[in-house]
Amino acid sequence: MLFRSAPASKERRGKKKVLMLISDTGGGHRASAHALEAAMLKEMDMEVKVVDIWTEYGRFPWNKMAAGYPFCCKYPAIWKSMYYTTIGLEVPTDILWRLQCGSGFKRCIGGFDPDMVVSLHPLCQNLPLAVMDTLAKEKGLPGRTAPFATVCTDLGSAHPSWFDKRVDLCFVASEAVRKVAGRRGLKGSKVRMHGLPVRKAFWRASEQNAQATPSQMEQLGLKPNLKTVLVVGGGDGVGSLSKIVEQTASQLAKDCPGAAQVVAVCGKNKVVKKQLEARRWPGVHVEVRGFCSGISDYMEAAHVVVTKAGPGTIAEAAIRGLPTMLSSHLPGQEAGNVPFVVNKGFGRFSTQPKVIANTVSSWLQDDRELARLSAAALAAGQPEATQLIAKDLVKLLKTAA
Ligand code: UDP
Repeated sequence: MLFRSAPASKERRGKKKVLMLISDTGGGHRASAHALEAAMLKEMDMEVKVVDIWTEYGRFPWNKMAAGYPFCCKYPAIWKSMYYTTIGLEVPTDILWRLQCGSGFKRCIGGFDPDMVVSLHPLCQNLPLAVMDTLAKEKGLPGRTAPFATVCTDLGSAHPSWFDKRVDLCFVASEAVRKVAGRRGLKGSKVRMHGLPVRKAFWRASEQNAQATPSQMEQLGLKPNLKTVLVVGGGDGVGSLSKIVEQTASQLAKDCPGAAQVVAVCGKNKVVKKQLEARRWPGVHVEVRGFCSGISDYMEAAHVVVTKAGPGTIAEAAIRGLPTMLSSHLPGQEAGNVPFVVNKGFGRFSTQPKVIANTVSSWLQDDRELARLSAAALAAGQPEATQLIAKDLVKLLKTAA
């Protein structure tokens, strides 16, 4: 372990405090943080604070990173250049960030004075670790006294900045990501592979071929007894959501008129939501939703999901046993999510709305194929991941007492 126990005189009384560091670039980091918070609170009473440290304590332009993320996702070329530039220019960017944002990060971490820090974002390792050491030195201590853990919220590939040798524990969700951690020099003993943290609704796997009852479908505003396609575009509703919904709906109206419905979940993308709501859909039932807090219920109701290759949505779909059609991926961190789904045999990938629509329609008309894909999804799902990570984190927190 790289942290040192706090000297006896500095030992605390009362609840232990855990600081979770994220940036709201996409919905997944915050969703994972709150999932872990819930699982850790089941293990032990403690105070947990989840902070978007870059937005709340960073300086311009870094405090606008989360706000600018949906724009970058819309233009993958911009994202790609940022993703790979930050790999090549790690040292200068780290220095720049320390100069510009170091004092803000000190206010955040020093102000809360946590007993443990958990990072759930690739840009929340280097600077927070450096700041924790500075804070300790200012108190006359040789190094940080609180343990630091990283929970990588990427699935099939991950930016190298997720991995820092100085952390005490690092959680990854796939062999591919474990390899990236190894290449960055993290000792095997520090790396744990339980899966991706997911919200409580996903801590139990679905039964094979389980389907929402007619009354559950009605409660969601859906028609019972129709084959159901759920189309989601991540928390920000990115990807060619409206084209995919339009193609899929018109294909289903042609192939199985009156027998299918599409649920379009637009997340925070109000423009797409409005566009889709204004359309008429002959031959097929279409329901349009904004950000759904109960996405698990919609996944229970669906036979197939179409989504961009967001790690959270993929992990959740697997737990729900949902055949998964991937419609896009961000360059870099989402690229590995495509082989994760395809090689595990529970879905396919295409960026072409026409191909997506045809594939989904053919799945819906073939119950044996639906069952095969669903079984493969359930085999890939890791509903126990969140609780296992939480148990390990609580153990680490206790060692810091
Ligand atoms: N999500 C949700 N409601 C919505 C849309 C998305 O709860 O209306 C959740 C989704 O279930 C997943 C997260 O937001 O847990 C999106 O994470 P993902 O990693 O798939 O993509 P990101 O938005 O982080 O790029």
